Amino acid sequence: MSHFSEVSYVDLPAVFHLSARHNADQHPEKVNLTIGAYRNEAGKPWVLPVVTKAESLLAADETLNKEYLSMGGLQSFTDAATRLVLGENSPVINEDRAVALQSLSGTGALHLAFQFIRQFYPGCKDILVSNPSWGNHKLMVDTIPGLNFVQYTYYDPATMGVDLEGMCRDLENAQDGSVVVLHACAHNPTGIDPTMAQWEKIAEVCKKKNHFPIFDLAYLGYATGDFDQDAASIRLFANLGFEFMVCQSFAKIMGLYCERIGCLIFAGKTAEIAHKCLSQMKIIVRSIYSNPPAHGARIASMCLNNREMRREWEDCVKEMHARIRRSREYLHTALKTLNVPGSWEHILQQNGMFSFTGLTKAQCELMIEKHHVYLLKSGRISMCGITKENAKYVANAMNDAIL
Ligand code: PLP
Repeated sequence: MSHFSEVSYVDLPAVFHLSARHNADQHPEKVNLTIGAYRNEAGKPWVLPVVTKAESLLAADETLNKEYLSMGGLQSFTDAATRLVLGENSPVINEDRAVALQSLSGTGALHLAFQFIRQFYPGCKDILVSNPSWGNHKLMVDTIPGLNFVQYTYYDPATMGVDLEGMCRDLENAQDGSVVVLHACAHNPTGIDPTMAQWEKIAEVCKKKNHFPIFDLAYLGYATGDFDQDAASIRLFANLGFEFMVCQSFAKIMGLYCERIGCLIFAGKTAEIAHKCLSQMKIIVRSIYSNPPAHGARIASMCLNNREMRREWEDCVKEMHARIRRSREYLHTALKTLNVPGSWEHILQQNGMFSFTGLTKAQCELMIEKHHVYLLKSGRISMCGITKENAKYVANAMNDAIL
C-alpha cells in the first residue's frame, strides 16, 4: 500500500497545456499566442546578442569558479537591479533603507515575499490581487497556509480600461493593513496600466488604509521601452514614504527565462528595519534552496554594470518593445482590412506583452479547435506570437469566431 494512493492527477495550468497542444499540432498554419515569452519577427525565441557576449566573456574568465554564492546572491547584480528600479539617486538607497536578494526569477521573488509576509507581517494576511491577474498569483497565495487570496476590481470590460472607482472602492473596503499586489507596469493579462494620476489616487487609498504594497515587476521596459517611465509607479510610492517590496524578474527583460534570475527588493522605514528583514529573508532562502544560481546572475550583472553592455542591453529592450508595437499594428490592420466587427483600437492602446482581446470563451475555443490558433480562454493573447506573416490568418480566425 502506497503512502500516496490518495493523490490524484491535477491538470497543468492552461498556458502549459495549450502550449503543449500547439507543439503537437501538425497544422501548417498553427499559431501559438499563449506563452508569455518574447518572439522575434520570425516568431522565434531571441537570445539577446549582449547576453551571448556576456556568456563568452564569462567562459574566458579564468578567475571565476563554481563555488556557492551567498544566500543573498550576487551583490553586484542585486545592487544594480535595485538602482535600476528605484533610480540612481533614490533617497531610499542613499539612506540604506533598500535591501535586496537574488531570487529564482519573478516567481521565486513573489514566493519569498509571501513566505516573509506569512512569518513576519503583523497585519492582516489578506493578499489583495487584481481581477484579473497572472494566474500564478492565486496558486502561490493558496499554497501558503495562513494567507488569504482576495481580489480587487481592476479591469472594466465596458471601457476596456482600469476601473479606478471600483479598484479604489475595493482597496478602501479591504481590511486595514492588507497586502496589495500591484503590477508595476505592462499589466498581465490586460495590457492596461493606470495613468500616473490614477497611481496617485491608488497610493492615496493605500496610504489611508495602511496597506503594504508588493510590486510585481516582470516587464520593466515592456510598457514604454523606457526603464524610468516604467518604474514611475514604484518610485511614486517610494517618494511617498511607503514601506514596500518589489519582485523583479529578468526573464522577459533580458531573455533569461531558463536561468531563473530575479531580485526581491525591500524598502523599509529605517535602515535597521530593512537589514533585520533581509537577515530573515536569507534564512527563508536557506530553508528552501540555500543559495541561488550564479551563471544568469553574472550575465545580468555584466549587462547592468558594464557601461557599453548596458547600452547594448537597453537597445535590445527598445527593440523588443518596438517589435511588439509592430505586431499590434499588424493585427489591428488585418482586422480593419477584413472589417471584423468591433473597434479593435484597444489592441493598439494596450501595452506590454499581452492583449486582452475581448473574445469570449466560446470564441477562443473555436479559434483553437477550428483554426489551430492557440490562446488563453480568457481572450488573452501574447502579442509576440503575431508576425507580419500570420496576422491575416489570425484576423481571419477571429472574424470567423465572432461571426
Ligand atoms: N509576474 C507576472 C505578472 C508574470 O507575467 C510573470 C511571468 O509570466 C512573472 C511574474 C514571473 O515570471 P518568472 O518567474 O519567469 O520571472
